[in-house]
Amino acid sequence: MKEKKFTIDLTKKLKEAFKERNLKITPQRIAIYEEIVNSKEHPSTVHIFEKIRRSFPNISFDTINRTLTTFAEIGLIKTVEGSGDSKRYDPNIEQHHHFICVKCGRIIDFDSKELDNLQLPTELHNKFRILRHKVVVEGICDKCSKELIKT
Ligand SMILES: [Zn+2]
Ligand SMILES: [Zn+2]
Repeated sequence: MKEKKFTIDLTKKLKEAFKERNLKITPQRIAIYEEIVNSKEHPSTVHIFEKIRRSFPNISFDTINRTLTTFAEIGLIKTVEGSGDSKRYDPNIEQHHHFICVKCGRIIDFDSKELDNLQLPTELHNKFRILRHKVVVEGICDKCSKELIKT
């Protein structure tokens, strides 16, 4: 298992995706996209808002929220399922799985060929059309384990 590296030409990708859908490119939108793609944390809307506000003090929470929803709708980013009340976003739109720390909420990407080829119950296949699956592993991350030992 190795943590996934993520490198792409950001602004180019964003511009292409926006042009295709006739959406306007604004410095704010570029900043939001760069923030999420450069974050390894699967950030929440609040997290993005706090970071972006440093460069754009007048931006509203609602604008950030709408921008992230748009990004997710056009497939630039994904939402992380089952991560609690606050929606979390994922810049990695390729097939991968998640380890979620139940203590600090960190979400770590990992790849696994075995999990990609997981055999799902036949009932599921009979009943539904399966599009994709993602495995979520819950546990306590390395950082939190160290904290536990200290106390
Ligand atoms: Zn943790
Ligand atoms: Zn992820």
